[in-house]
Amino acid sequence: MRATTRSLQQWDRYLSRGKSTSFIGLGRMGSEMAYNLFSKRYAEANDAHFVVCDAMPESATRFCENFLKQFPGAKMAIASTPEEAVLASSTVITMLPSSPHVRKVYSESGGLIPALRLLSETEAKATVCIDSTTLDVQVGRDVAAETRQTGAEMVDAPVSGGVTGAKAGTLSFLVGGTESAFRLTQPTLARMGQRIIYCGASGAGLAAKICNNLVLGVEQIVVAEAMLLGQRLGLNAAVLAGVINSSTGACWSSSVNNPVPGALPDRSPPSEREYEGGFATSLMIKDMGLATDVSQASGSPLPLAEAAGRIYQDAVRLHPELGKKDFSSVYQYLQRAAEEGRKTAYVCRACQCDPPFRAI
Ligand code: NAD
Repeated sequence: MRATTRSLQQWDRYLSRGKSTSFIGLGRMGSEMAYNLFSKRYAEANDAHFVVCDAMPESATRFCENFLKQFPGAKMAIASTPEEAVLASSTVITMLPSSPHVRKVYSESGGLIPALRLLSETEAKATVCIDSTTLDVQVGRDVAAETRQTGAEMVDAPVSGGVTGAKAGTLSFLVGGTESAFRLTQPTLARMGQRIIYCGASGAGLAAKICNNLVLGVEQIVVAEAMLLGQRLGLNAAVLAGVINSSTGACWSSSVNNPVPGALPDRSPPSEREYEGGFATSLMIKDMGLATDVSQASGSPLPLAEAAGRIYQDAVRLHPELGKKDFSSVYQYLQRAAEEGRKTAYVCRACQCDPPFRAI
């Protein structure tokens, strides 16, 4: 007999809510994370209940079909709104694109917070929300404060490790919230990741994530620049990657996410698959924007992040298809600029010169 999802209405909320986990946002990261979380939880307790929810219903259906193929006995349902998801489960994980989506899923009508207000005090207090989205620090703090006013707990727990880490269950979670909320969420996070790092009060996980991605966004461009330059100087891509990866230039963008097909013979980064999968350039533009926005409020200068943000934006403006591709496809933007003898986006702010730089 073919396993199917159950209707949420068939579940007795009072009996199942405590053993039920909802996952909202089944995109590139969320689908892998939910798979690890649910399969490990199911192995521990086969009466556990699982609920999924996505703005694209076909993503939720595809996830359920795939999961039930592997675990035909699992109790699984699709929620059509975040409200249904939190009424069904005392643990809710969200993995959404960015700030507007988190506001919608938590605060708007049909969202988690209005639904939490419908629950009894005991049920609300037994609820924990984990948001793994990378979003604006202040929006994350505001949503967490609003959630906590209902009696529920909430942490920001953005991740590092990409789709590969999500699939392997080796993500790093950067957690912000109270220490008690951190302890409460640890077992859930441990089913999806390897390193769970407490960063501090609400918003601290997001601050750490934004700083990390600032490094990554700049790093990926400079690796693409070096790989292109080296090949135009006659170097073989795999030889050059081998040199960088065993020298002082070694970094994730070169040794794991190298932007040149064939540069990493033992690995299969997105560049080997026409830059499909991985971390979308549009999401990296968002993250560079999150860093530059927050830097204005904190007064911390980010000249490289500003330049990198302009480069990613120019890449997508000229080649819109790169927006959905892995951000290492910035290499293609540089490659096409080189072939066409075109300048890239960067203009030096200090002296308004175009590279090559002149001394100032
Ligand atoms: P994605 O666009 O593939 O997935 C987002 C999912 O959220 C989609 O399935 C979408 O339909 C769903 N969604 C959007 N609005 C919704 C709503 N209102 N209700 C329910 N579902 C909704 O994005 P992703 O690559 O999985 O990234 C998710 C988050 O993780 C982003 O904040 C990103 O910055 C961060 N992140 C991504 C990577 C990566 O390598 N992809 C790595 C680290 C962190």
